[in-house]
Amino acid sequence: MSYWIDSHCHINEERYKKDFDNFLSIAKQNNVLRNNVICLNKEEYLYTLQKQQQYPFLDISFGYFPEDADHVTDEDLQYLESVVDSLVAVGEIGLDYHWDDTKKDVQKQLFIKQLEIAKRHNKPVIIHSRDAAKDTYDILKEYAGDKVLMHCFSESNEMMKQYLKLGYYISFSGVVTFNNATEPKKNAKEVPLDKMMIETDCPYLTPVPFRGQMNQTAYVRYVGEHIAQLKDMDPQQLMEQLMENYRRFFDEKD
Ligand SMILES: [Zn+2]
Ligand SMILES: [Zn+2]
Repeated sequence: MSYWIDSHCHINEERYKKDFDNFLSIAKQNNVLRNNVICLNKEEYLYTLQKQQQYPFLDISFGYFPEDADHVTDEDLQYLESVVDSLVAVGEIGLDYHWDDTKKDVQKQLFIKQLEIAKRHNKPVIIHSRDAAKDTYDILKEYAGDKVLMHCFSESNEMMKQYLKLGYYISFSGVVTFNNATEPKKNAKEVPLDKMMIETDCPYLTPVPFRGQMNQTAYVRYVGEHIAQLKDMDPQQLMEQLMENYRRFFDEKD
């Protein structure tokens, strides 16, 4: 049986809590049957872990977000390392200079420390990079292991080629469905089939035809269908390929 997988979602956020079961049943109706839930702190991690008891198809990733770098302590990092075996990946981690580029060094230090944790435990990493292409690339090249997923990829076609050369995976969000998203569409068209993933990153970046409304994990289907169109493929065939990629990246131990 094949189905869509949301490789990156924040369904542990407050806004989903009241109707959590309902959001998952809408996902099921849309044939979205596996979700990688991203946790940015201990509270989100514990909440998601508890949900996983009830819904074993939820995967958990956990990492401290670059914009929180100021507040992350050594104890927080020790905590992450103590639970790392329960995760499918460390992330999302990385650099974000969009709102505040004054604390670049703090962000870089946190990023490197978490890459080292992932490496010590042979875990894949999920990378968030915004307005920080060069620094992200330089740090990854020096510190990352083999399994790297560039989430919600929005950088240039040239950067994508650089990452592909390193063997990294590229994930596309609802942005690719936007009319004016020329570069993401080009990237989705060009990315090798065995190196791509899709995601919602919900609650953000709602794909067409729901753009403007709150995003939810069920909508990853629209990302997949749009990319199938761009790549001139049967959606079913793309779905199967994406499942294979997801399993190779997150399930298989090297
Ligand atoms: Zn992100
Ligand atoms: Zn995210």
